[in-house]
Amino acid sequence: MSPADGLARARRALLGCAVGDAFGETFFRRLDELVRPLIAQRVLQEGDWPVTDDSMLSLAVFEQLAERGDIDPDDLARRMQWHYQADPGRGYGGGMHDLFGRGAVGAGDAAALFGGTGSYGNGGAMRVAVAGAYFADDPAALVDQAARSARATHTHPEGVAGAVAFAAATGALVQGARGANVIAAARGPVEHGPVADGLEAAAALYPRGVSAGKAAATLGNGARVSAADTVPLCVYILATAGDAPFDEVLWRTVACLGDRDTTCAMVGAGLAAAGWSVTPAWIPRVEMPEPLRRALAPLVDEAAA
Ligand SMILES: [Mg+2]
Repeated sequence: MSPADGLARARRALLGCAVGDAFGETFFRRLDELVRPLIAQRVLQEGDWPVTDDSMLSLAVFEQLAERGDIDPDDLARRMQWHYQADPGRGYGGGMHDLFGRGAVGAGDAAALFGGTGSYGNGGAMRVAVAGAYFADDPAALVDQAARSARATHTHPEGVAGAVAFAAATGALVQGARGANVIAAARGPVEHGPVADGLEAAAALYPRGVSAGKAAATLGNGARVSAADTVPLCVYILATAGDAPFDEVLWRTVACLGDRDTTCAMVGAGLAAAGWSVTPAWIPRVEMPEPLRRALAPLVDEAAA
């Protein structure tokens, strides 16, 4: 496989991320009770669907891979900061406001977050499918590069583990893995800890055919915005996608509520990387800042034609 193949997959992942992110974000309302019937009846929200941090930080990973073919955490952090400062109002977490709001982000800044523990939030995982798609042919590079991409902002071992696991799940899906093999691929490179525990719980649910919504009760749904509360559910949803189309899998994902822009961004990215067709009617609904539109132009123009 050539780097061009990897980049084409990464671009598809970025499109799936943007559409999932924007779709999921439209279902944030003050009370989940108001949202549930809309999701049950599959009522798409009117107006533009703006993308959030998940897409903009995935774009930073994509840009770095397009330019240099690998990830440098410091360079990636600066690139993410540039997108942050262009529009800080895209739903960034508190740690990221802290990190990117300063003058110039540098080496060691991410490690100093949260009193020196580093972040174990889901931010490393939410943007990593692009790298998983790019390095799908080389599992060792995938693990290394996924960890580097996480460390730009999330240096806690669990923040890194979540990124490695989700990149591995995406890479496996790209390579044709399905079902329990997707969960096993995510678990493989991860050390013992909460993310690994969640993936083992997902593996135990799989043979029982548990729905995504029921699985979320065990695995979490990102409501705590930690990697361990987000990655196992997203891996489970990819593993149980079967032959369902992109929009159907995204409806299942958003029905789990929780951190729904992020879970939908991650699932959308994983599916699109592996060749699922991103629902054409949804693509024009997504409001994309110019740099994102530019990166996705080949795919978005194709969908519009
Ligand atoms: Mg977001």
